[in-house]
Amino acid sequence: MRAVRLEAVGSIKLREVDKPVPGPDELLVRIEACGVCGTDRHLFHGEFPCRPPVTPGHEFSGIIEAVGNAVSGFAVGDRVTGDPNIACGRCPYCHAGRVNLCRNLSAIGIHRDGGFADYVVLPQKQAFVLPADLPPTHGAFCEPLGCCLHGVDLAEIKPGSSVIVLGGGVIGLLTVQLARLAGATTIILSTRQASRRALAEELGATATVDPTVADVIDAIAGPAGLAPGGADVVFECAGVRETVEQSMRLARAGGTVVIVGVTPQGMKAEFEPFDLLFRELKVVGSFLNPYTHRRAAELIASGAIEIERLISRQVPLEEAAEVIANPPAPGEVKVLVVPSRLSSLATLATGETVDDNLSSR
Ligand code: NAP
Ligand code: ZN
Repeated sequence: MRAVRLEAVGSIKLREVDKPVPGPDELLVRIEACGVCGTDRHLFHGEFPCRPPVTPGHEFSGIIEAVGNAVSGFAVGDRVTGDPNIACGRCPYCHAGRVNLCRNLSAIGIHRDGGFADYVVLPQKQAFVLPADLPPTHGAFCEPLGCCLHGVDLAEIKPGSSVIVLGGGVIGLLTVQLARLAGATTIILSTRQASRRALAEELGATATVDPTVADVIDAIAGPAGLAPGGADVVFECAGVRETVEQSMRLARAGGTVVIVGVTPQGMKAEFEPFDLLFRELKVVGSFLNPYTHRRAAELIASGAIEIERLISRQVPLEEAAEVIANPPAPGEVKVLVVPSRLSSLATLATGETVDDNLSSR
């Protein structure tokens, strides 16, 4: 089979490798789509620890082609999405239900071979069935959506809450949609690219801000701003110092700041402890997708999350290495690697049906 191999930091190539054989508890999954994420680019540049050679790709879904002899509840032909983050189940954090903090956490696509290939091996405990009639590319969004769900869970959004999202990449745009579903009535997104601001407004943002032309604090939380005094919840989804610092100033007194964006290790940001105390701000980190993958799969299966408009490009395996080795193109939200041309054509066909369904709601 073909696999995109990260052979060393800075070296990634499409190779012919042996088709993997699933163990007793594992599924062999033919990949239908695998999303390219910032982490894949960090692996390529050596900014995230991993031990090459490895096949990256942790946002994947596909069709079961074979099952190990101890597998139950899954059948050949089922469409599944994989939760790539594997907790050990034995450490104190796992025993406390904090599986994303597992001391022995490993990930498919980082520590073992992932989805930029024709096939991936998926432990059955990491697999979740998706509907047969779902567009084949949508399952690739379960992992990023699961991470956003964890952030939204931590934020405890209530009907009528006001929400600010900083950063309009796929994480910010999924968070906007989840905030809307959770009942937020004011949802303000700040991001630099105009196309993303327009898309956010179509996906549920009630207002957007261009941080390059406006003072974000004044435009949102100032006396004449979009949410005077700040919002109940602020999601930092850009991972840069500027937005981390803005996030705490944009939350209202008693509000919650959720840090979702991954800043470079060692980066420092400034805040005033007095302000945190005086305004009783709650600042929480949101890391990965503990126990949210099934709900993410259910949300995607239900059609409640707009996925089609987040897909900027579908590329074959032959182009994956180049996409990973280069920064995202302006305007791009999510690039999917689609190993088989057949499934990409199927997506186009089913995608139209989904759009029709959405517009007739
Ligand atoms: P992304 O596409 O890079 O999105 C971040 C976006 O933030 C940028 O594309 C940029 O869009 C915007 N931005 C940059 N500077 C800004 C500023 N000063 N003000 C407002 N917006 C700004 O990445 P993503 O896939 O959406 O992921 C977002 C972050 O979440 C990343 O740091 C990623 O590593 C992290 N992440 C975390 C988890 C977790 O479990 N916590 C999971 C997945 C990803 P514009 O060009 O439009 O400004
Ligand atoms: Zn553990």
